[in-house]
Amino acid sequence: MDLTLSPSEEEFRDEVRSWLQENHPGPEPEAGLDEVMAFRRDWQRQLHAAGWAGISWPKEYGGRGATMIEQAIFAAEATRQEAPAPANVLGLAMGGPVVIAHGSDEQKARYLEPILTGEEIWCQGFSEPESGSDLASLKTRAVKDGDEWVVTGQKVWTTFAQYAKWCMLVARTDSDAPKHQGLTYFLMDMEQAGVQTRPLVQITGEGEFNEVFFEEARVPDANVVGGVGNGWAVAITTLMNERAGLAFGAISQIQNSLGRLSKLARETPANGGTAAEDPYFRQRIAQLHIEVETMRLNAYRGLTKTMQSGIPGPEGSLGKWQWADINQDLTELALEIEGAYSTLARGSGHAVAGGAWQYSFLRSRANSIEGGTTDILKNIIAERVLGLPRLR
Ligand SMILES: Cc1cc2nc3c(=O)[nH]c(=O)nc-3n(C[C@H](O)[C@H](O)[C@H](O)COP(=O)(O)OP(=O)(O)OC[C@H]3O[C@@H](n4cnc5c(N)ncnc54)[C@H](O)[C@@H]3O)c2cc1C
Repeated sequence: MDLTLSPSEEEFRDEVRSWLQENHPGPEPEAGLDEVMAFRRDWQRQLHAAGWAGISWPKEYGGRGATMIEQAIFAAEATRQEAPAPANVLGLAMGGPVVIAHGSDEQKARYLEPILTGEEIWCQGFSEPESGSDLASLKTRAVKDGDEWVVTGQKVWTTFAQYAKWCMLVARTDSDAPKHQGLTYFLMDMEQAGVQTRPLVQITGEGEFNEVFFEEARVPDANVVGGVGNGWAVAITTLMNERAGLAFGAISQIQNSLGRLSKLARETPANGGTAAEDPYFRQRIAQLHIEVETMRLNAYRGLTKTMQSGIPGPEGSLGKWQWADINQDLTELALEIEGAYSTLARGSGHAVAGGAWQYSFLRSRANSIEGGTTDILKNIIAERVLGLPRLR
């Protein structure tokens, strides 16, 4: 693991930096999620046109063919400059890599390009009302009917399902097989009568995620990914990409927040001086800096492993756990520094001023649940990274 950038990586970083400075579309609209998604779609089109979508995807699939380090440099730089997220964040981080790893040639030809352009948004239909951490217990059924599958069941917490054209759907195709072996991974067309989505309102007041109901929805055989009965392996690829994709953008995001937190501490009176001069607040801010640095070094360790093996491994779970802990501590500390004032401002969506800390604090509560709860990540690290005895 070499933590210094090579001359060509530095050149790449400078290119990314100046392109983002010249093309940054400004802050996201503060209106509703529909406006934010439209803004992000425009931004993704711009990224794609300039060759910044699918940075580490092979060129033959429409990507830039860059290294994973370069992908990480782009994520870090884009977040440092507070560039918007692309609209199709799940398609880029998970859908594309899954189709590249497990899809047929026809699937690669059909799905990859509209993921990159943002023309077709993807969502992830894994969790169900009674199956979250224990994903393999899921009950949504797919029954073969000629050259199609008929799907009945319910998913929940499905982020951006209301905007999605395609759903990465895991369904049970064999109820007699052991639970991990009876699953199949489908690409479900969300634009059909058998699929209904209902947004759920989060603690922030936004409705990013949804309940999704399948009532005899249809999927052609051609949309099975990785083979019938092989859904568990394909789902694991999806989850490993989800966690691994997060690290470098998350580090920059926390570094930005730490900068804002230090500014807040310098400007807020506390105990006869400012919060920045108060030993209690100073030490907590210093502790957060130390934890972010540890997270950054661990992220490089994970990236080195991924580059050696070609696929993201269980190490990505560590970064996701650290990110959730640090982000929750950081936003909580911001409210402590604001003191009584923190109870007055109500977080408004994507606002950067007035209520931004309240919004971030409320949104951060989900960090230790989404993409695998912290408890589950600790189990993965114990069993698959440290080699401790298995729970079951
Ligand atoms: C903002 C947000 C967005 C999301 N987006 C999506 C999405 O797009 N697609 C999707 O499919 N899902 C999505 N999810 C769902 C998410 O993946 C699940 O909430 C998560 O996996 C936990 O499942 P659960 O909610 O059913 O909790 P449960 O699995 O019921 O867990 C309840 C509690 O028990 C603990 N627990 C459970 N099993 C164990 C164990 N073996 N050892 C120790 N502790 C355990 C958990 O840590 C948790 O504290 C999203 C969630 C959030 C919050």
